[in-house]
Amino acid sequence: MPAAARATRVDDILSAVVDASGRLTDEDALYLFENAPLPDLSQAAHAVRLRKNDPGRVTYIVDRNINYTNICLAVCDFCAFYRSIKDPEGYVLSFEELGAKIEETKELGGNQILLQGGMHPKLKIDWYEDMLRFIKREYGIHLHAFSAPEIHAFAKINRLPYAELLARLREAGLDSIPGGGAEILVDRVREEITRGKCTTDEWLEVHRVWHGLGGRSTATMMFGHVETLAERVEHFRRVRELQDETGGFTAFIDWTYQPENTRLAESHDVTEVGSWDYLRTTAIARLYLDNVQHIQASWVTQGGRVGQISLFYGCDDMGSIMIEENVVKAAGASFRMTEETLRGLVREAGYAPHRRNFFYEIQPEPDFA
Ligand code: SF4
Repeated sequence: MPAAARATRVDDILSAVVDASGRLTDEDALYLFENAPLPDLSQAAHAVRLRKNDPGRVTYIVDRNINYTNICLAVCDFCAFYRSIKDPEGYVLSFEELGAKIEETKELGGNQILLQGGMHPKLKIDWYEDMLRFIKREYGIHLHAFSAPEIHAFAKINRLPYAELLARLREAGLDSIPGGGAEILVDRVREEITRGKCTTDEWLEVHRVWHGLGGRSTATMMFGHVETLAERVEHFRRVRELQDETGGFTAFIDWTYQPENTRLAESHDVTEVGSWDYLRTTAIARLYLDNVQHIQASWVTQGGRVGQISLFYGCDDMGSIMIEENVVKAAGASFRMTEETLRGLVREAGYAPHRRNFFYEIQPEPDFA
């Protein structure tokens, strides 16, 4: 197709999404991936972001990601964090250790704990219920815990259906579910990079059941490894379809695969995709996922400056301060930011920074604001 015709088609696709007269089809999304200039994607995604969310505000949350165990029954080729149950470096945090981390989080103004582990083959449902009850009783903090692969593993280990398991965890204190473990929601991709983890349909079913119980969760995507562009679009479609059905996702978060210390980098000769691809993919996510309210910036993998720029590519939220993040750190990403620095980046970009909670309700400002 001649360049002028390509530009016209890109314009037509983007105009329809910006004025909300048409929904992005898979074919059009792929066309954008393959043909749209980056500034055009930015302009369109930013227009949608301004329409969907407060144009003058960028939110963020202060929380801590606690990895309660690194022992995992799965093998993911992109993961440098997990250990087998026999590995001397394997750990399970004691409740006292958990408590110390949560106290520190609250002192720093944190209002949420993101609790994720490896999938421990021996821990039973009672242990998780005790842990949730202990945290709720002692600290009363929002618990954003257990990604869908963990829930799936708990269900298998305890021979419980998702609904019963999730209802028990909710009763013990589970408030919301993180979107981790989605990687790419296409089984061809999942089978190539993971073993012992849930399938696409199982990942979606955990969220469907949780939403059916009245719960909310987030959706994620880790890209830039063995997937094709069409498979990224398929991932968007699976998320959008479930969201049409349940409306239970509060936000979408995409990040790039971090290759350092992982076997995938060697076995598939995968190199890290850069900020150009990150920004394109994030902008197309904003355009495609018209039924998901918020898109979070991934500054932990991209750095603060790219996180700041992504506020013009569809993101309306800077995600978390992430007081601790072992999984991404183990794979080489080591970006860190204080709350003051994050607020400074948001202000520099022309927005007012606001602390929020999981439900995007605005929280009291910190003393130094
Ligand atoms: S990514 Fe999660 S499920 Fe996969 S090996 Fe690492 S800890 Fe286990």
